Amino acid sequence: MNHFYKKLTQNFPLNITLVTVSKTRTNQEIMELYNLGQRDFGENKVQELVNKYQILPKDINWHMIGHLQVNKVKFIAPFVHLIHSIDSLKIAQEINKQAQKENRIINGLLQLKIAEEESKFGLSFIEAEKLMLEIEAMNHLKIVGIMGMATNTTIETKIEKEFLELNEYFNQLKANYSLIKILSMGMSSDYTIAIKCGSNLVRIGSLLF
Ligand SMILES: *Cc1c(COP(=O)(O)O)cnc(C)c1O
Repeated sequence: MNHFYKKLTQNFPLNITLVTVSKTRTNQEIMELYNLGQRDFGENKVQELVNKYQILPKDINWHMIGHLQVNKVKFIAPFVHLIHSIDSLKIAQEINKQAQKENRIINGLLQLKIAEEESKFGLSFIEAEKLMLEIEAMNHLKIVGIMGMATNTTIETKIEKEFLELNEYFNQLKANYSLIKILSMGMSSDYTIAIKCGSNLVRIGSLLF
């Protein structure tokens, strides 16, 4: 597995953050990448994220990339680095509340729905607009960007079209909100397309392990 990590990071653009997605991977597998210098890891389940946080080195930046339930926010609020999956006012309010209890500010991304699949979570552009205004009033949650997943397809033009749409929306938001700086898009199968389309954070799992 280290083989591909080294290859990937050797010529990796400096302005793009690589989040290695470590869901279902063992602590030992994570430590192999850690020992090569990797510090940003992504998980999609709260329990697994908390278990790994407790055991692994404390200078890891933990990214919550999966759908988040309101009653579980409190478990990650003390340490989470970035929540990629904010998709409702309810979840935003809970993150703000738990962050306040922890006396910290949590950074988050709004998850946008760009794929055509029914199953993908996320906001429409119009819903995101509204949520941005509501979150602006919160003191302990800051929205610093957006995240999206393209349709699971081999048709590259379709993926590209969806990523370009997200990039366009990202640029609009950036023009209106000074804190917006992260465009989280691209996974193992489509990260090269995502980077071409303006992504500055990719979430890569299966390719690496
Ligand atoms: C699992 C996952 C990834 C990584 O997917 P790979 O295909 O393994 O690279 C990225 N983003 C999210 C939200 C995921 O759940």
